[in-house]
Amino acid sequence: MNDWLRPLLDFIFPPRCVHCGQLGAYLCARCRAEAPRIGPDICIRCGNPLTTRGLCQRCQHHPPESLQGIRGVCFYKGPIAKSLRALKYHGQQALAPILATYLIDYMRAHPHHFDALVPVPLHPEKRAERGFNQSELLAASVARALQIPLQTQWLQRIRYTRPQAKLSRSQRLQNVVAAFAPAPGLKLKNQSILIIDDVATTGATLQACAQALEQAGATEIWALTVARAHITATQTSQDPVDAFLIEETPQA
Ligand SMILES: [Zn+2]
Ligand SMILES: [Zn+2]
Repeated sequence: MNDWLRPLLDFIFPPRCVHCGQLGAYLCARCRAEAPRIGPDICIRCGNPLTTRGLCQRCQHHPPESLQGIRGVCFYKGPIAKSLRALKYHGQQALAPILATYLIDYMRAHPHHFDALVPVPLHPEKRAERGFNQSELLAASVARALQIPLQTQWLQRIRYTRPQAKLSRSQRLQNVVAAFAPAPGLKLKNQSILIIDDVATTGATLQACAQALEQAGATEIWALTVARAHITATQTSQDPVDAFLIEETPQA
């Protein structure tokens, strides 16, 4: 949509908050502030919330090898979950710059040099079906605000994967193996890269992306997402990721 058209449309059809319905914004100031942030007590590698900052049990044995670390800004619930679903499944692209402010604020609070931002790509078929890539919209807003080059061609999704939401952890890992590849001939010497995505659950997709960038020569790769599944170390009866997904199954 043209930039000049948005204010006109907002005047004719005033935006409503996707969470509480209040008129005036796609996500109102109160709901924006209400989004629960993930604190410093996380696993320093996979970024999952823990009771104290450290290394989670899974990462002690199976860290995301190609990634320095994964970070998520908010928990995937409440207004954040609702607006991320509205963006992804209901085409509300106006939410992307609003949701990107969480990423921008996080990066300003945790300064680190990155040579490039790389959004998690969609398979061309999926992209055509949805009409846009939500991760690319988020990364584009961050790139503009922080003046970091956006690289949308470096990573390619070469395999059409089944939707991750209904799969178990092991199925997810299987599902994304070899789903991504670096662009043919891509050479990344000593590049520090930040991968951007909307939501991370197990981190399997981000790890697969990082692996492809590492193949191309990137030396330092991090990942940042707007939201993160809440996985507690004490949940033992059920895979916490699956428990979480039962609660928050995205609409197809
Ligand atoms: Zn609201
Ligand atoms: Zn971990």
